Amino acid sequence: MAIATRYQAVIGLEVHAQILTHSKMFCGCSTDYLTAPPNANTCPVCLALPGSLPVINRKAVEATIRTALALNCEIPEFTKFDRKNYFYPDLPKGYQISQYDLPLSRNGRLEFEVNGEPRRCGITRVHLEEDTGKLLHAGEIHRAQSSLVNLNRAGVPLMEIVGEPDLRSADEAREYFTRLRAILQYAGINNGDMESGQLRCDANVSIRPEGSTTYGTKVEIKNMNSFRSVHRAIEFEIERQVQVLESGGALVQETRGWNDPKGVTVSQRSKEYAHDYRYFPEPDLPPLVVTRGWVEEIRRTLPELPAARRARFVSQFELSIYDATLLTSSKTVADFFEQAVRADGGAPPKAVANWILGDLSRIRGTEAWDTAGAPLSPAHLAQLIRLIDSGTISGKMGKDLLGQAVASGKAPQDLVAEQGLSQVTGEDQLGAWVDQVIAENAKSSQDFKGGKPQALGFLVGQVMKLSKGRANPERVNALLRERLGPGPPNG
Ligand code: ADP
Ligand code: ZN
Ligand code: MG
Repeated sequence: MAIATRYQAVIGLEVHAQILTHSKMFCGCSTDYLTAPPNANTCPVCLALPGSLPVINRKAVEATIRTALALNCEIPEFTKFDRKNYFYPDLPKGYQISQYDLPLSRNGRLEFEVNGEPRRCGITRVHLEEDTGKLLHAGEIHRAQSSLVNLNRAGVPLMEIVGEPDLRSADEAREYFTRLRAILQYAGINNGDMESGQLRCDANVSIRPEGSTTYGTKVEIKNMNSFRSVHRAIEFEIERQVQVLESGGALVQETRGWNDPKGVTVSQRSKEYAHDYRYFPEPDLPPLVVTRGWVEEIRRTLPELPAARRARFVSQFELSIYDATLLTSSKTVADFFEQAVRADGGAPPKAVANWILGDLSRIRGTEAWDTAGAPLSPAHLAQLIRLIDSGTISGKMGKDLLGQAVASGKAPQDLVAEQGLSQVTGEDQLGAWVDQVIAENAKSSQDFKGGKPQALGFLVGQVMKLSKGRANPERVNALLRERLGPGPPNG
């Protein structure tokens, strides 16, 4: 982006994450809205029937505090819920219970790297609210365009993580969001699934002349359901804003939607302001006093977080920072790595890392492991690595075998036994193959003796073919040299 050298982009993300509790935020209904029949998981509270009263879900409060602590936030002693009033058919109460001026936490930060450079983004606040229902645009019913409403999702606990406008490029925004997602997964808050909407991200984007210290007019972008689309939408929006300013236009504060197939942002509505929502304290809920003892109790439930785990992978397993960063970006992948290294019999960490980040991730991209699982079990990967390291099979066979183990779910050891794949290292059998190949390829044998090193590679290849790939290539090489003499230097 040539023109962007004269402008600087300013980006702040607002991330919504559903909290994996069994019951909803203010009632006992199940949070299962993905598989339950429409409106099965509803009650007077989440249907907003008159006279019903909400009760705060303690687990959701604790999950929010746990996330806030993982993001280095302060946890004030006093917090309350507020009503955010607006009309939409998926919002049965006509307001959302959220938090306005006294959120559960504030003033945190998240550290990460982009291209090896350390970066930091402030966390304004992490607060707790409830999700809305879902509309299904059903086409024509009784000669009118109609929508159906499913309120199973209404009242599902939702956490909002508001980031400071500290990000300066689409790359930084993607990295920040990747790290944030990993923290949510590690803390057991959310499975990080963007496609099903359990994790959502709105991006606020503005630009300003390079060197300026005030912010430009921001645009909020919605509807991105993958990391790729977050990145693309921000890139597009920066470029669009530069073009508006360069052509003498002015930017308006608005909400735009990301159209993924077309790769553009489209104006949806002008910006609404806090006063439009007529916030006021929720009269049906008591304010919460968060004792220091409670906070410390929650702090003790924090698991090892991605940054700490990455540092441990480097020191304990002697991995590169690069590999350790990739492996710990997803808890599922990091767990898989450790399980393979520690599996019965174990496997060398560097080899496990190479297989995960190489062949295994080509079979199924590691981003998909969180939802679809790893392509095979950690114990089977460890076994495969041991079969190669012990010389039972060649590295090349190992790659073939990996595909078979993934497809069949069978243990690599059993596949080797079933198919008689064990590498042949016995001198008698190898010697017989080598002699046969020398006899059948007199010309190449002469060539090698006469000073053509390439001829040896050909002969090794013939032995491998004769053995159906089971001969150990190093041994074959040595035996051929024994039979034919040392050959030319470097041969
Ligand atoms: P609003 O009142 O419109 O909700 P906030 O100040 O609460 O705005 O900020 C909402 C989000 O927008 C935050 O993530 C913040 O970092 C981001 N943001 C605020 N100002 C800007 C700006 N000028 N450019 C880009 N992002 C911004
Ligand atoms: Zn309910
Ligand atoms: Mg805001």
